Amino acid sequence: MAEIIAILNQKGGCGKTTTAVNLAAALAIYGKKVLVVDMDPQGNATTGFGIEKNEVTRTIYSVLTGESTLQDAVLDTEILGLDVIPSNIALSGAEIELSKEVGYHTILDLAMEGVSEGYDYIFIDVPPSLGILTINCLVAADSVIIPIQAEFYALEGMADLLEAIQLVETRLKSPSPIKGILLTLYDSRTRLGRDVYNNVKEYFGATEYIFKTTIPRNVTLAEAPSHGKPCIIYDDESSGSHAYLNLAKEIISRDGSEGNK
Ligand code: ADP
Ligand code: MG
Repeated sequence: MAEIIAILNQKGGCGKTTTAVNLAAALAIYGKKVLVVDMDPQGNATTGFGIEKNEVTRTIYSVLTGESTLQDAVLDTEILGLDVIPSNIALSGAEIELSKEVGYHTILDLAMEGVSEGYDYIFIDVPPSLGILTINCLVAADSVIIPIQAEFYALEGMADLLEAIQLVETRLKSPSPIKGILLTLYDSRTRLGRDVYNNVKEYFGATEYIFKTTIPRNVTLAEAPSHGKPCIIYDDESSGSHAYLNLAKEIISRDGSEGNK
């Protein structure tokens, strides 16, 4: 059974998609079978795997509207055995359409029933909002990874995000514990980097929430998507590739020691 992990932060540009694509690729390098579900209408995770998002016929939108099963929407990326459920701009209309459905919070969760068996990890690349799509991601997820960009406003909006996780747990009876906080675009040598790290530590009250691995600012991570490849395939020597490989190792060893993998 896969662990379904939502990569979540309503802030745009904090590294959600970069993490979904590159952590998935790094785990695949270590022999894990991984699916990435693109739940963002921008379809950046889809493009990041070299898939032409406007040419795919079955997307996460067709899954949510019941036109396709999730299994039928799975695409083999031909990269490291990674699978992806693609997304494109069609999904932007889904919030309004779904809101008319009974039980609209649980549509993704129900659609994902049965796919879990074939994978070790399923990552959901969550859109930058706290709307209906994001709530669907939280209901479907077993846990969340929250990327936080090391910048002055890093924790702005965090209370709303944690409240959303809490409400899904209490009202929809679907807990998604925090698997880890991931510091992205991080530079420990700068004062700002250290300040943000300390603020995050203070905010969450314990370092165990924060991944030991941090992701540095690395231009190769930003370039790889335009080549339709995860960074590890584009340039395996880059600091970005090393960071995501380390993160994958940290997750595998932690999951192993918890005895649930
Ligand atoms: P989100 O999905 O949260 O909106 P992205 O992963 O798309 O964020 O990242 C936003 C932009 O920053 C993208 O252009 C991406 O290539 C770039 N980026 C993300 N992480 C890094 C990093 N560690 N180093 C350099 N550029 C990065
Ligand atoms: Mg994104």
